[in-house]
Amino acid sequence: MTFVFATNNENKVREIRSMLGDAFRIITLKEAGIDIDIPEPHDTLEANAREKSTVIHNMTGQNAFSEDTGLEIDALNGEPGVLSARYAGEQKNADDNIDLVLQRLEGQSDRRARFRTVISLIIDGKEHQFEGVAEGHILMERQGGKGFGYDPIFRPEGSSKSFAEMDLAEKNQYSHRGKAFRKLIEFLQQ
Ligand code: IMP
Repeated sequence: MTFVFATNNENKVREIRSMLGDAFRIITLKEAGIDIDIPEPHDTLEANAREKSTVIHNMTGQNAFSEDTGLEIDALNGEPGVLSARYAGEQKNADDNIDLVLQRLEGQSDRRARFRTVISLIIDGKEHQFEGVAEGHILMERQGGKGFGYDPIFRPEGSSKSFAEMDLAEKNQYSHRGKAFRKLIEFLQQ
């Protein structure tokens, strides 16, 4: 079975490809010859994920999936949430976003946070959604050099490492995206 993965984020592609068995094949937008920045105009992860998978399904006529992820920090009332990519501005810069989070949490002892991923799958013209949540904490400073986005400042529950200190397999074991993707694979195998 082949699916178009509606993302331009190579890090996400790498994570998901490392979890794929032989039964499924993923084509990236680049490999499908599609060069667009898919809009994320909505105020929920669910609606943005649906928008992305629908746009790509309509363009290609193929089975497609997308995912949208947000970092929800309790002491910031759930921010940055759906605004995670552009928290510090439209330049969508990971370092700037991390700096802003650390600045807003200065002096804050409640560092509880979670990553939430929503995957939207369109198969045979019908949409299905899968959610994955990774509970954890925001660190006082950056730790580790792997991964992407907010990985250096997020430590998932049950581990002493930040996501940026884990290799792909270990991160997938704990991560929001890993959990959501395992649900998708289970659904496809039924
Ligand atoms: P989006 O789902 O691509 O819109 O991502 C939202 C924001 O969260 C971006 O700034 C990403 O870099 C960040 N992000 C998404 N997934 C992860 C992750 O697994 N670790 C760290 N940051 C992430």
